[in-house]
Parts: sequence; structure tokens; C-alpha cells
Amino acid sequence: MKIRVAHLYPDYLNIYADRGNIAVFDRRASWRGHELDVDAIGMGDAIVPGAHDLYYVGGGQDREQLLVAPDLAAKAGPLREALDGGAALLAVCGGYQLLGRGYRGFHGEDMPGVGLFPLETVAGDTRMIGDVLLETELGPVAGFENHAGRTKLDPGATPLGRVVAGFGNDGESGFEGCRLERAIGTYLHGPLLPRNPHLADWLLAQALAHRTCGEPPELAPLSDELEAEARRVSAERAHARGGRR
Ligand code: GLN
Repeated sequence: MKIRVAHLYPDYLNIYADRGNIAVFDRRASWRGHELDVDAIGMGDAIVPGAHDLYYVGGGQDREQLLVAPDLAAKAGPLREALDGGAALLAVCGGYQLLGRGYRGFHGEDMPGVGLFPLETVAGDTRMIGDVLLETELGPVAGFENHAGRTKLDPGATPLGRVVAGFGNDGESGFEGCRLERAIGTYLHGPLLPRNPHLADWLLAQALAHRTCGEPPELAPLSDELEAEARRVSAERAHARGGRR
């Protein structure tokens, strides 16, 4: 089966090798006999609801976010429609922030958001940097965070997980990321998926469900020994160092 992926602003939002997440989707899909078809969606390109099964937005610095924010906000209608239609989405850090209602950057720049995730972000005057370990409904998730933004979830919003070590959304709520149906937003880079393959598989299964208009399939298990080792090392670092401002 062809899994159709829309990679939003690959030229602007690709900090800490976030593009590596696409490589993980591609390999894990092909190991199960599926093919990944990736379209780059840039400035001025239209989002056509139904045309893609999985949307991906990486992270970036305030400067890049400022450049893409108005264009992304203008795509809010079709993006919402695509997700209401059952498409899956992964957004990392800068992309995650811009899928909320808005982001006020470090120098006070107000950037419009898509308003998909029920949250808002304002940059603080210190950065939250370090290895992170989360406990989520999909299993433990490990990664690396580096952000000035403090993200506040609306009451009742569902986080991706609880912070075991590190800062998370705002360094105080104990929450990290946001989940909304088949969409996941998170601060975790590293990139996120090479050491958290269960998350990649969950998203691929949701994308396949969209593709087939059916239930998310059970994907054939892979050995994932290296991936588990990578997560173990990352989790240990998070425990040992936590996050530092
Ligand atoms: N510029 C944003 C912040 O500092 C996002 C950074 C990122 O994507 N790592 O909060």
C-alpha cells in the first residue's frame, strides 16, 4: 500500500535532524511491504484534504517560525478538514507550537497558529535543554528538548505523556506534548522516531487506517534491538542529567 505523506516546510523546519523522522517512517513502512510517497508542502502550496494520510511538521528557530507562521495559519481550514477526515499528524517543537493557537517568540513577536491543538505558547527568558523521558499511553518515549517556549495546554486537553525526567511543555505542569485523535505534537527532537519506533508504528497504523478507511492494522513486529538500546541510553541520560535551564 502507498502511504501518502505531506512534509510541511522541509526547507524551513528541520532543526536537530527532524527530517530523520521521515526516514524512519519510510524504512518501517517498506519493511512491512508498504511504500512511502512524500510530498513537500512549502510556502503557498495548497493542502488538499484527503490527498495525504500523514502530515509531518518539524522544528525550527523563532526566525524560521516567523517566516512560515502566516502561511501555515492560512492553511488552517484544509488542515483541520484533513484531520477531521482521519489523517494522522506528527509535529515537533517549532511545528508543534505553531499548531496551537499561537506562539509569542523570544523577542515578543506574535505568531499566528493553526488552532488545531488546544494550547498556547509564550517564550520565556531561559531555554529548556536536555534529555527527556516520558511515560505515555503508547509506552515510554525518550528524546531531546531545546526550547524557550512554554506551552500551556487548555484544561481538559490530552498531553502526549507525563514527564519522568526533563522539562516538557513548560517545566512545571509535568505534561509533555499534546494528543488529539490521530495527531501528536511534542517537543522531542533527536530526531524523535529512531529511538521510539513504537510511536512511528502507531502513526503509520493510523495513516494506513486513513488510507483504507478502516481500522488501524496490526503491523508485523520488527526486532528493534538497536532502537531499544538507543532509547535505553537516552532514558539513562535523562535520568542522570534531567533538563537544565
Ligand atoms: N523556537 C522555538 C523555541 O525556542 C522552537 C525551538 C525548536 O524547534 N527547537 O521554543
